[in-house]
Amino acid sequence: MGTKREFGPQRILVTGGAGFIGSHLCARLLAEGQEVLCVDNFYTGSRENLAPILNHPRFEFLRHDVTHPLFVEVDQIYNLACPASPIHYQFDPVQTTKTSVHGAINMLGLAKRLKAPIFQASTSEVYGDPEVHPQPEDYWGHVNPVGYRSCYDEGKRCAETLFFDYYRQHKVEIKVARIFNTYGPNMHPNDGRVVSNFIMQALLGRPITIYGEGQQTRSFCFVDDLVEGFVRLMNSPSEVTGPINLGNPGEFTIRELADMIIELTGSKSTIEHLPLPPDDPKQRRPDITRARNTLGWEPKIALREGLTRSIPYFERVLRGQKR
Ligand code: NAD
Ligand code: UDP
Ligand code: UDP
Repeated sequence: MGTKREFGPQRILVTGGAGFIGSHLCARLLAEGQEVLCVDNFYTGSRENLAPILNHPRFEFLRHDVTHPLFVEVDQIYNLACPASPIHYQFDPVQTTKTSVHGAINMLGLAKRLKAPIFQASTSEVYGDPEVHPQPEDYWGHVNPVGYRSCYDEGKRCAETLFFDYYRQHKVEIKVARIFNTYGPNMHPNDGRVVSNFIMQALLGRPITIYGEGQQTRSFCFVDDLVEGFVRLMNSPSEVTGPINLGNPGEFTIRELADMIIELTGSKSTIEHLPLPPDDPKQRRPDITRARNTLGWEPKIALREGLTRSIPYFERVLRGQKR
């Protein structure tokens, strides 16, 4: 049985631990003195993201797809497995829905058997293209159920439903975080997300591709701030279930982001306007009142500083030496 240890390190499972956010979470938990079991099928994650911790004595890696049952013994579960960037999650949309839904069922079954708390990496995409701005947790969202983003958005919404039903029906201790756009080192350099695209384009001196007029807004959270929010939520009192928004409330237009990246990289790149993808949300900004009040959490790293910390990683990627 996975009864919680009173002394010594906790055994912590991180699914999707070889991905961008997961690799930072694994490193953070090891630095705290915990034991980490990282489960990943390398769909978008990589061994390179884990290189600094792969030989750590308290780290263990298991190659496994969460759509299949998993029988292990742990004290806490962070469920992050799921491709997050539109080009990756739309490449095999059926697998994306399976990962969110079957993955949630299996990890919740595991949490139920072990009586272990389980954290879910949900997303601001559950709000869809929001009609309420900024988005509080009690907003139900404006989501297209049959579009190109639906495999991700509706998969994550169904996962939230499962989490709350396991909580009500089986008394599983759940922690549901709704994550807003996050960036930082270890982002996949070719994942098509706006921060990685713009930094790579700026460093290569290629045109910066703004979709539409660039007046759509996003709020960007640096990964270290986000991971701090994860750990606080996981270790909060059992009655704190979420959903709880985690993100940086600073809101920028995509054009402002492009200008800042050109300035910080000293790039000569020009701006190129391309068509807006379907269902692209026009605005997004978290209302983080709940996170402030229940976790005492708020982001500390402003966009300019976070970009400055991220650019050297992309420079190393281009030199072919990731770390
Ligand atoms: P990522 O693609 O870098 O990481 C996802 C990881 O999950 C990868 O290592 C991938 O190989 C793994 N994975 C995918 N399918 C799997 C499966 N079936 N079985 C096992 N492993 C599988 O993405 P990320 O940005 O690190 O996102 C992590 C989590 O946070 C995801 O659940 C994502 O939906 C959520 N999230 C991220 C953001 C963001 O801005 N990055 C925003 C909202 C939510
Ligand atoms: N499961 C798992 N690991 C465990 C316990 C369960 O992967 O340690 C899976 C199990 O295979 C099942 C799912 O989680 O498919 C849901 O489990 P639950 O006990 O809720 O449902 P049941 O087994 O009754 O269908
Ligand atoms: N975007 C852009 N150029 C790019 C990549 C993205 O203008 O090269 C825009 C995209 O249309 C969206 C915003 O930037 O409005 C954020 O896109 P991303 O894919 O990073 O995240 P999401 O749309 O899931 O928030």
